[in-house]
Amino acid sequence: MEFEPVIGLEVHAQLKTKTKIFCACSTSFGAPPNTHTCPVCLGMPGVLPVLNKKVVEYTLRMAMASNCEIARESRFARKNYFYPDLPKGYQISQYELPIARHGFVDIEVNGGLRRIGITRIHMEEDAGKLGHDADRPFSRVDFNRTGVPLIEIVSEPDIRQPEEAGAYLKQLRSIVRYLGICDGNLEEGSFRCDANVSIRPPNTQTLGTRTELKNLNSFKHVEKALQYEINRQKEVLMVGGQIVQETRQWDPDKNKSTSMRGKEEAHDYRYFPDPDLLPLMIDEGWIAEVEKNLPELPDAKKKRFMDQYELPPYDADLLTSDRELADYFENCTREFPQPKKVSNWVMGSLLGLLNAQEKTIEDAPVSAVDLARMLALVEEGVISGKIAKTVFDEMARTGKPAKQIVAEKGLVQITDTDALEDVVLRIISNHPKEVEAYKSGKTKLLGFFVGQIMKETRGQANPKMVNEILKKKLE
Ligand SMILES: [Zn+2]
Repeated sequence: MEFEPVIGLEVHAQLKTKTKIFCACSTSFGAPPNTHTCPVCLGMPGVLPVLNKKVVEYTLRMAMASNCEIARESRFARKNYFYPDLPKGYQISQYELPIARHGFVDIEVNGGLRRIGITRIHMEEDAGKLGHDADRPFSRVDFNRTGVPLIEIVSEPDIRQPEEAGAYLKQLRSIVRYLGICDGNLEEGSFRCDANVSIRPPNTQTLGTRTELKNLNSFKHVEKALQYEINRQKEVLMVGGQIVQETRQWDPDKNKSTSMRGKEEAHDYRYFPDPDLLPLMIDEGWIAEVEKNLPELPDAKKKRFMDQYELPPYDADLLTSDRELADYFENCTREFPQPKKVSNWVMGSLLGLLNAQEKTIEDAPVSAVDLARMLALVEEGVISGKIAKTVFDEMARTGKPAKQIVAEKGLVQITDTDALEDVVLRIISNHPKEVEAYKSGKTKLLGFFVGQIMKETRGQANPKMVNEILKKKLE
């Protein structure tokens, strides 16, 4: 029996504001426990929250980037539950009237375009963090994260395959990073994802009973966990069983999910409008101002890279996957206006090096301008394309500019006809058998001679000149 998976994602993105959502405490990561706290975020009686304007501005950016309708009036609500990392006994979130609704994000999967609907985006505060030590009979709580601003981006159940979920998440992460509102760091938890999964017979509209998957903290885990859950539900239904609505936790070490708790419904939280916070009113002037300052987004940039630089879709897609990477490419191309050559070097040598060292473009060991200057040396015939690879590695290792490395190591390309002729004649006289064979028709041996000459000159001979001289001397 066939089943169609139905997946919706809830993404929490931590906003990169300097201070928390309702108080002036710092949001910086990694401080000693409970040093970034005050009566407001500790939930002391009688304190009043004051909304951080930057949080609203950042949320508006995301709402616009994901084509949402922006509510001119929205409300904060209290979501009531008890947990030791939540000192107030409720979380301030948004419920009936979120700030943004009815948007969409386009993704590309296996060459096809898919539109994933955004149900809503709302603002809320984060909870604290519990620490559990195996050797101590108690747990610790750190309230530094309490009140750190989050946006929750809820998708429509439009996702049909684990790969689509992965592509959608990557697209969202790319957008929040382009907007400069979230660092998108999955490991540190500043970009988190929960998934709602159900399956149903194909060509039906009714949704099956869903389960919620928690703790999906890498792109790899998301796809694996979803596939596992789809298979698990299929197996249950195949033997006539029923799916239980529940929250399940993904265990990346064991590659399986286990039941955490029965899924709570919204009414379990007793939502009600927060009486300490006024309705949030957003005027047209503010919306226009945020819109004016919106940066170019990944899809638009990709299209521009294909038009302006005539790059193939693959190159444009990869180079615009990250704003800093796109900037690097453009800075390099400004100095050395041959886009495809720059693209090849950035995608090949530079990204290869960064991936091998598990670094990002921000830590690029060779600057865009230095790379451009090296490419100019190749173009001017000072060094060969082969030597350029050596020079590039040396630049990355030492931080020296290409010109200096070429001068110090004597890597200048040999373009002196007399010098090249000497080498060619030497190689020819050292290989009489091959010369014989070449003359009797084995012209493929030309490559062999070129190889010998390159070896002899440590790759410094100008290949075009070598070919010309060789052919002349062999005939
Ligand atoms: Zn505080």
